[in-house]
Amino acid sequence: MLLQENVPLAPLTTFRLGGPARFFVEAKSAGEVQEAVAFARSKDLPLFVLGGGSNLLVADGGWPGLVLKVAISGIERRSGNSEGKALFDAGAGESWDRFVSHAVRAQCAGVECLSGIPGSVGGTPVQNVGAYGQEVSQTIESVEVFDLQDAQVRELCPEACGFSYRASIFNTTERGRFVILRVTYALTPGGEAYIEYADLKRHFEGRETRPNLAETREAVRHIRARKGMLIVPGDPDCQSAGSFFKNPVLSESQHEDLQKRATAKGLALPSYPALEKSRKVSAAWLVEKSGFARGFGFGHVGISSKHALAIVNRGGATTAEVLALKDQIQHRVKEIWDVHLEPEPVMVGF
Ligand SMILES: Cc1cc2nc3c(=O)[nH]c(=O)nc-3n(C[C@H](O)[C@H](O)[C@H](O)COP(=O)(O)OP(=O)(O)OC[C@H]3O[C@@H](n4cnc5c(N)ncnc54)[C@H](O)[C@@H]3O)c2cc1C
Repeated sequence: MLLQENVPLAPLTTFRLGGPARFFVEAKSAGEVQEAVAFARSKDLPLFVLGGGSNLLVADGGWPGLVLKVAISGIERRSGNSEGKALFDAGAGESWDRFVSHAVRAQCAGVECLSGIPGSVGGTPVQNVGAYGQEVSQTIESVEVFDLQDAQVRELCPEACGFSYRASIFNTTERGRFVILRVTYALTPGGEAYIEYADLKRHFEGRETRPNLAETREAVRHIRARKGMLIVPGDPDCQSAGSFFKNPVLSESQHEDLQKRATAKGLALPSYPALEKSRKVSAAWLVEKSGFARGFGFGHVGISSKHALAIVNRGGATTAEVLALKDQIQHRVKEIWDVHLEPEPVMVGF
């Protein structure tokens, strides 16, 4: 285990923001994870587990304890489960998009719509990553974790992970308890691509044959690039954590109230059925209709010119500036629409 000190965290995040880690370890095996945890315990240091850094906002002061970057690699296919699915074990430190590419090349369906999402395999169960109609909770067979409570490695079944919209036990009830070491996905060999989401349907409009997995993957990456939701080196709209706010899930009565406010302004509110008796509304719409258009500038930070939901570091920004813009957006949306926007990125070191 290589222990480093005062390691800048900004280059390890897609936002390119934040101060240093007091201590830093990159763990390439479960053994190194255990060693790093033991070190943090022995020194009474707070521990932060880092994946690909694509869903983080790190404080300007950095992290006062140990940052443990999980770098366990490897993708292995093993014989299928009882439902005829192909099982893939992927190390938590693998690039998520490399895993999707691997699955698509192996003609296995289930994650093709999640192409182009940055970050690591280990990051995907945490907020139950989802896009274009798919969520990892639909394909996760099990999650291997190191439990900090009793220092045991154990396997969690999907039910135990408590998946819901952008949530799991890993970012709610059991936050900070587990280090994810490996994830097993159950994919459908020879399965068809999932093309239900409006953007994807539009992309393939007029086509007579059904797009295959590889074509769907390319289409998703293409649509994402257009929205600044694909990391393209050199593109100033890419220094972000993706969507900064979650789509609010409202009760029927809250939704009705919001709809009345929209109608009074002559606007049509886009919304989708969510869980029982609730509706999900578009956070991007609320942001735009509160006066924050795409390309809106605020010092070194701003709104992506391609997507209203992404706050971007336009170069030389501080985390404090991002927080100031976040506060301004939340305040305006609450004032105009009476809806609280909840940030999606994990706040580190606050
Ligand atoms: C351009 C862009 C587009 C995006 N698009 C989407 C999208 O379409 N859908 C979506 O859901 N998300 C999206 N995201 C958000 C992000 O990519 C995902 O949430 C991703 O899964 C985060 O993984 P990560 O490895 O980067 O985690 P990090 O950002 O490093 O960490 C995020 C959280 O997960 C925890 N964590 C990470 N790895 C582990 C581990 N091994 N064990 C325990 N905890 C761990 C961290 O402690 C932290 O709490 C986007 C981000 C960007 C920048």
